[in-house]
Amino acid sequence: MSETDVAVVGGGPAGLSAALFAAKNGLDTITFDTDETWMHKAHLFNYLGIESEDGSAFMDDAREQVAEFGVDRRQGTQVTGVAENGDGFTVSTDDGDHEASYVVLATGAKRDLAEDLGCEFTDEDVVDVDVTMETTVENAYATGAMVRAEEWQAVISAGDGAAAALNVLTKEKGEHFHDFDTPADAE
Ligand SMILES: Cc1cc2nc3c(=O)[nH]c(=O)nc-3n(C[C@H](O)[C@H](O)[C@H](O)COP(=O)(O)OP(=O)(O)OC[C@H]3O[C@@H](n4cnc5c(N)ncnc54)[C@H](O)[C@@H]3O)c2cc1C
Repeated sequence: MSETDVAVVGGGPAGLSAALFAAKNGLDTITFDTDETWMHKAHLFNYLGIESEDGSAFMDDAREQVAEFGVDRRQGTQVTGVAENGDGFTVSTDDGDHEASYVVLATGAKRDLAEDLGCEFTDEDVVDVDVTMETTVENAYATGAMVRAEEWQAVISAGDGAAAALNVLTKEKGEHFHDFDTPADAE
């Protein structure tokens, strides 16, 4: 059995969205991030529901939100390799190795870890994924800029991360998983 259910590489909108959905629904989730998110250069006017927000302020809120759901956030830890280990994945970092049943790659436009893992690429030279964001390596997901040639927007990355985590949850729970809350849940 792996040490962690889900390892997320990258802590921008894609990675933290995946981590939020996974941890909120009971999966042990660890994230690694080197804080080079493009969000530090952005100001959002095009993220539905947010009229205007500085990208770094958005990241502060997102980090706080995932921490509240128990995500083990390794800020400042770089992942140097991801490999299949027969039972899941070994995620190598500058702080040592971690084992996880599922891996979500969310490293922005950087595709080197996906390539090393053996994920197939499309003719446009982006990581090949299906609509659930699963790569050609079973239980390995790729999200955000690495799966698209140019359509690079925060809300798309966050959607990709959510789709990946929902697919992991569907596999774990054995039936299509919905993360639905109602007003009563907020009381
Ligand atoms: C100048 C500029 C303005 C922009 N303006 C907008 C805008 O107005 N609206 C909009 O929607 N989008 C905008 N964007 C794009 C937006 O910032 C990206 O779409 C979004 O950040 C992508 O999210 P992501 O999670 O896919 O990747 P990123 O945000 O790039 O996050 C990837 C994270 O992975 C980490 N990482 C990478 N490799 C490793 C590793 N090996 N180990 C650990 N961590 C790693 C990085 O440090 C980074 O924190 C803008 C981008 C730029 C550059």
